[in-house]
Amino acid sequence: MNIQAASVQGVFDADHSPIGASGAHRYLACPGAVKASYGRADEPSDYAMEGTIAHHVGEVCLREGKDAWEFHGDVFGEIIVNDDMVCAVQSYVDFCRSIMLGSTGPEWIEEGVTVNSVHPFLHGTVDFASSNVACGHLDVVDFKYGVGIAVDADGNPQGRIYAMGILEAMENASQVEEINISIVQPRAVHSKGPIRTETIPVTTLLEWRQDVLIPGLEASKQDDAPRKSGPHCRFCPARSDCYQLLNDIMDPWTEFGATDPDKLSNEDLGSLLTTFERLGILKAALTKEALGRLTRGGEVPNVFLKAKGTHRKLKKGAEAHFKKKFGNSDDMFEDRKLKTPAALEKLSPEIKAEVAEWAQKPDGGYSLAFEGDDAPKISRKASDIFKGKTKD
Ligand code: SF4
Repeated sequence: MNIQAASVQGVFDADHSPIGASGAHRYLACPGAVKASYGRADEPSDYAMEGTIAHHVGEVCLREGKDAWEFHGDVFGEIIVNDDMVCAVQSYVDFCRSIMLGSTGPEWIEEGVTVNSVHPFLHGTVDFASSNVACGHLDVVDFKYGVGIAVDADGNPQGRIYAMGILEAMENASQVEEINISIVQPRAVHSKGPIRTETIPVTTLLEWRQDVLIPGLEASKQDDAPRKSGPHCRFCPARSDCYQLLNDIMDPWTEFGATDPDKLSNEDLGSLLTTFERLGILKAALTKEALGRLTRGGEVPNVFLKAKGTHRKLKKGAEAHFKKKFGNSDDMFEDRKLKTPAALEKLSPEIKAEVAEWAQKPDGGYSLAFEGDDAPKISRKASDIFKGKTKD
């Protein structure tokens, strides 16, 4: 492999690189996103925190030869390693171990890589990679814990940038001829299954680097880099006030908004539904911002906090208690686990009385409500929290 000299330099700041591998799908689709999101970062969501913990558990399993079940019930901050996380992490670990069997090394586990030949700030953290240079192979694996958006392996820019970073870090990269880039996403539904792999020759990777990546980064450096909205706006730090996203929502809406749905052409129907998809992205960003402001004690006219609805859960020790009191009746169990409180209550008045004592609603945090919603308003203003309290 012969990696050519850098062609994209300057403009970015090392500490807050907006050209990391994880954002590549966005800035390659919308060159304006690099400048629009410069210096802005989202607060990590609960979902992102769960993903971080799942990656951490996977890393420890791979480094220390453990299995995910050994972490079941462990708590990291406010995140608990539950059944779902154990199953997802184990799928990832098993897949990496199947690659390790044919590996001659070296291996990379949660390691930072940089594609210096393109830009010193083009970097990212590789979940797992392993090489078998004797066979001319390199495997790069990206673990996705998310459930909402199923990520493709084919043409995946993040995986390709990781592969380039690994090749630049390898002493014997010239022996690698072919690369498998795999996405392990056990919790999302995808037509190709939970593990998808794209196999590409190194020459294809280098062509992509020259024809797509470098021109894309060059375009994003321009002062007037164009913005282009799309599904990639979903996690863009600039989405809450992006004029392009707003224009792309408003234009079709203004044009077609007053038309009866049954009079719309198929093209217009598709265009309007795309508009609503973009609107959902903007709404989610604004909701998150309002939740943050209200939780910090601010006021946002017409909206307020209410408790997020949660389902009742059985308290710790409930299973042992119910077994002791009612025996191992099949009626009470499903997949060898105690049924839900609602299902148990239907079995008998005696069980229902026990459920009342052993079930509770966990705190689900806050959600946003609008005027007209009769839910109790929750105020996080300091004057309300400390109302009636006097200093000793
Ligand atoms: S919100 Fe979308 S259109 Fe706007 S800068 Fe970000 S990616 Fe581009």
